[in-house]
Amino acid sequence: MTPAILRSLPALRAITRPWQMNGARIGVVPTMGALHDGHLSLVAAAKAVCDHVIVTIFVNPRQFTSQDDLAAYPRTEAEDARKLERFEIDAIYCPDVAQIYPSGFATTVSVAGLTEVMDGVHRPGHFDGVATVVTKLFTQTSATDAFFGEKDYQQLQVVTRLAQDLDLPVIVHGCPTIREIDGLAMSSRNLLLSDRARTRAPVLHEEMERIAEGLHRHEDFETMRDAALDRLDKAGFGRVDYLDLRAADDLRLLDKPTRPARLFAAAWLAGVRLIDNIAV
Ligand code: AMP
Repeated sequence: MTPAILRSLPALRAITRPWQMNGARIGVVPTMGALHDGHLSLVAAAKAVCDHVIVTIFVNPRQFTSQDDLAAYPRTEAEDARKLERFEIDAIYCPDVAQIYPSGFATTVSVAGLTEVMDGVHRPGHFDGVATVVTKLFTQTSATDAFFGEKDYQQLQVVTRLAQDLDLPVIVHGCPTIREIDGLAMSSRNLLLSDRARTRAPVLHEEMERIAEGLHRHEDFETMRDAALDRLDKAGFGRVDYLDLRAADDLRLLDKPTRPARLFAAAWLAGVRLIDNIAV
């Protein structure tokens, strides 16, 4: 059965209030829609541990740094609802902008430190938008559990930090990145790639795996990074915003994986920005 689609906060509160009174675990999966198997893996994880599950679909204008990017973002609500049918979730919450940012809205949630690197630098204001909307979605849904993908690892760390700092009674669960058969991390933005660009896109993940293997053999990171940048260029990639080795917890730059570390990349391919990260 197609899950109920709720568009207003009062409609949402009407279904969550009795759950809350019964002390139920309410799982929330925040998304911007254009759902793929990566999103659906979060839904499955939520179903496995929660009494009730709500998927939110909200293309959050505050986390976009370009109006063109916001306008081009894929919107496939009917298809999304169909993909969710088999999970038997309780509701899809699709608020309009006024439900989240009513007139006079003046509050921003801002996380320091973790947001001062990588996408925090390349997409100014992005994480303030994310932190603010996630805080709103947690309180609006009365979530006890929330599910995020490691695909957006920096975002997962930021959300974990804010939930802890603001004493939000939500357990933040991180779930592994789901990939296409050729290694490309699933992303709603992959829909924007031309056929030609799509065939080249897996090179980003291939180069990251190559570096991870080299690090395992104690090869020099900088040397491998330069070679990878060169090959990405030859494969038709444009600007590489970053290709960094960083600590998995505080995201500090490393030159060797001397503590639990991850490789992080953001690169442009035919006008589409791809991001990925892997543990090393
Ligand atoms: P988005 O709709 O892109 O904002 O993503 C919504 C949630 O799905 C975020 O927690 C993402 O990290 C997660 N997600 C997106 N792509 C993947 C993927 N390939 N594997 C696992 N989780 C993902």
